[in-house]
Amino acid sequence: MADIKLYDTMAREKRVFTPADPNRVTMYVCGPTVYNRAHIGNARPAVVFDVLARLLRHTYGEEHVVYARNITDVEDKIIESARAEGVDPSVITGRYEDYYLADMGALGVQEPDIAPRATESIAGMVAMIASLIHRGNAYEAGGHVLFHVPSDPDYGALGRRDREAMIAGARVEVASYKKDPADFVLWKPSEPNVIGWDSPWGRGRPGWHIECSAMIEQHLGQTIDIHGGGLDLIFPHHENEIAQSRCAHQGAPLARYWMHNGFLSMADGEKMSKSLGNVVTVDELLSQGHKGEVLRFALLSAHYRQPLEWSEALIAQSKATLDRLYRSAGEAEAGAVDGRVIEALSDDLNTPLALSRLSAIEDAGTLKASGQLLGLFSESATGWFQGAGDKRIDELVEARAQAKREKNFAEADRIRAELAADGIVLEDGPQGTTWRRA
Ligand code: AMP
Ligand code: ZN
Repeated sequence: MADIKLYDTMAREKRVFTPADPNRVTMYVCGPTVYNRAHIGNARPAVVFDVLARLLRHTYGEEHVVYARNITDVEDKIIESARAEGVDPSVITGRYEDYYLADMGALGVQEPDIAPRATESIAGMVAMIASLIHRGNAYEAGGHVLFHVPSDPDYGALGRRDREAMIAGARVEVASYKKDPADFVLWKPSEPNVIGWDSPWGRGRPGWHIECSAMIEQHLGQTIDIHGGGLDLIFPHHENEIAQSRCAHQGAPLARYWMHNGFLSMADGEKMSKSLGNVVTVDELLSQGHKGEVLRFALLSAHYRQPLEWSEALIAQSKATLDRLYRSAGEAEAGAVDGRVIEALSDDLNTPLALSRLSAIEDAGTLKASGQLLGLFSESATGWFQGAGDKRIDELVEARAQAKREKNFAEADRIRAELAADGIVLEDGPQGTTWRRA
């Protein structure tokens, strides 16, 4: 078995990956806050860590990898959107969670093994907060519960920033009830008309960071193998997750390897982000007629830690290369995966090298299997060049509607995923479901 090497943000170097238990390799990636459509930058971590999950499954065995990605479904921006639309927050989160899964499915992202929702994990958060108070790492003040940063001498090890930079960078509110300006919120009060849960500190809702610590503990254990997310999450989010979990678990580290993807930017060089207004959503790109697999290829064309500039030229180049690969693979049955492709991926997920090595593979079956390890070749060559039969799609859409009427949501989800794997995107509207090619 080839060694997998991963760049660990904590160690600042590439390290050979050795899971604590090769029979249960655990990975957690911070997932979306579901209140708007994902932009193509948001898709980068989903696609990158999907490739890593596939590599781990290939290396350790399908059933020996547990991959969790959470859904943040309680957050102030969600509450604002719900208020603006005059609906319950669950309407907003349900809608955008469905969109997120459809968009990522169109990009060939397999659903993680576990997708815990914050609103379904409140008890675990309350228990962890209570334990932090009990241990002297958190305190109640002004209806809030805060984590007391000076109580943790190891705080800040991931980003290695100094204290002043952390306080400035976090833009933490300097509220009068805080003992220290760096202290961050674990629990906050909810007004009667705002979503909330009863707790020992009154009716309220969790701060953002505690959900990941609590869900990791609940679903994966105290120490996981790999924790991932975008570069912007290092501070404050991951730094805070680390502190909460370590303090609640008598010093046990939260994760053994920390991985962070770089930013996707537009031609202006600015990070794609909603606040800058320079976003293009996955949905828009699909509606423009780009295939999801082409977008996936484009996302993997740069090394995940490098910045990636998104452009029309990148999409066109990705399509041209994929067309050529589909022509070479033809209708071959998948064979064995090429060792040099595995070698490239095992070197800190070097996807640009892995993609270029695909082009050098002569055997069609080897090419197909190797591309599939990267989540490519989701279609037959005929399907790729002609499009899958519309009749079969209509039948599946109807079967899914039937499953939903029967409240068989597992079957409905399975059908949606099957269609997504063929690049078919479903849109549920008041008149029923329509579909289009990604
Ligand atoms: P958010 O919904 O902003 O919390 O982002 C969800 C995920 O997308 C996080 O892992 C972010 O780090 C990541 N992300 C957001 N913007 C970008 C970007 N422009 N490039 C790459 N990753 C991003
Ligand atoms: Zn998180």
